[in-house]
Amino acid sequence: MASTELDTASFIKLDEAWGAHNYHPLPVVIAEAEGAWVTDVEGNRYLDFLSGYSALNFGHRHPALIAAAREQLDRLTLTSRAFHNDQFGAFCQELAELTGTEMVLTMNTGAEAVESAIKVARKWAYEVKGVAFDSAEIIVAAGNFHGRTTTIVSFSDDPAAHDNYGPFTPGFITVPYGDAQAIRDAIGPNTAAVLMESIQGESGVIVPPEGFFAEVRKMCTDNNVLLVADEIQSGLARTGKLFALDHDNVRADLYTLGKALGGGIIPVSAVVGRADVLGVLKPGQHGSTFGGYPVACAVGRAVVALLQTGEFQERSEELGKHLHSRLDDLIGHGISAVRGRGLWAGVDIDPAAKTGREVSMALRDRGVLCKETHERTLRIAPPLVITREEIDHAIDSLVEALEA
Ligand SMILES: *Cc1c(COP(=O)(O)O)cnc(C)c1O
Repeated sequence: MASTELDTASFIKLDEAWGAHNYHPLPVVIAEAEGAWVTDVEGNRYLDFLSGYSALNFGHRHPALIAAAREQLDRLTLTSRAFHNDQFGAFCQELAELTGTEMVLTMNTGAEAVESAIKVARKWAYEVKGVAFDSAEIIVAAGNFHGRTTTIVSFSDDPAAHDNYGPFTPGFITVPYGDAQAIRDAIGPNTAAVLMESIQGESGVIVPPEGFFAEVRKMCTDNNVLLVADEIQSGLARTGKLFALDHDNVRADLYTLGKALGGGIIPVSAVVGRADVLGVLKPGQHGSTFGGYPVACAVGRAVVALLQTGEFQERSEELGKHLHSRLDDLIGHGISAVRGRGLWAGVDIDPAAKTGREVSMALRDRGVLCKETHERTLRIAPPLVITREEIDHAIDSLVEALEA
């Protein structure tokens, strides 16, 4: 039971009085968490069915990750990259080996990883491919979500993310997601890269058509264009494999990673990929004070070690089948469609039934936390440590919530 000076309503009032209103959280105030469960300030327990948008793939406070963080805190926290530290190189090597890539660029947040990939792709286009100065183009997908910086929202078509943040960064061409022919038509002599989520997360867990990424890979190779896969949400075991692209047997030239890379403890992100591409960066041309700092590297190494066992990929694959079979049974009973892969699902609420927010609230009342994305889609992404029985409990609660 959490000790509390304030009740739920008072905490929320405080948030609203002093915090910028850039989110609309569910009215629950969490004070403690472990594994797949969180406890609020009043001592109520909830099953986490969202995992911090996949930042908590290994559950809350995984003992190996907490131990790695603690140990590092007791030794060394920050050096800046002005000096070397004894964690950075090992983290880069271990992450590269895990991902089958050659080089690692460390940053902090997902948006910074995407920004870094954009910068590297442009620099590569000018210095290696020979694109005319200031005319590089990057092909992106409609419905994308890659973060919140000014450049990234420049090519967002979500009005909430985009509107009134201009003037915008040019150099992006938007095509429908999953449409290989549209990419073929958009590729020209100035194309530096195709940048896409392997599965679109914020958009509602949109899985592209079978064979799409294999076609994109071939086009990119044929035209000397980089394939940049944003696996910040889809990667690191969420879909049952290390990368969602692995389901298509496709390799990207660059991958952006974040969220789960920091184990839900600290922000850790990276661009991993080809050494001849990331190699365009020379000293002083890019960086971040905290990017690759010792605490990030120590936690990141522990995350890599967990992923190396394959246990989380297996759990996601196995339990994901169960999750999806239970969700599929609800189609026609308050749910109109289910998409996704592994322990990840976008669930469209029947328009005749309820909004995503109403279902999320009814689930909260039953001790399960998840959140809508857009008006009528629930995004389900439990921690990969969840059990089959806990999934059943959550789906039984969803059935009740849809009927309530
Ligand atoms: C969350 C997310 C980002 C942005 O990550 P932040 O850490 O919030 O900046 C980028 N791309 C995808 C696919 C994401 O899901």
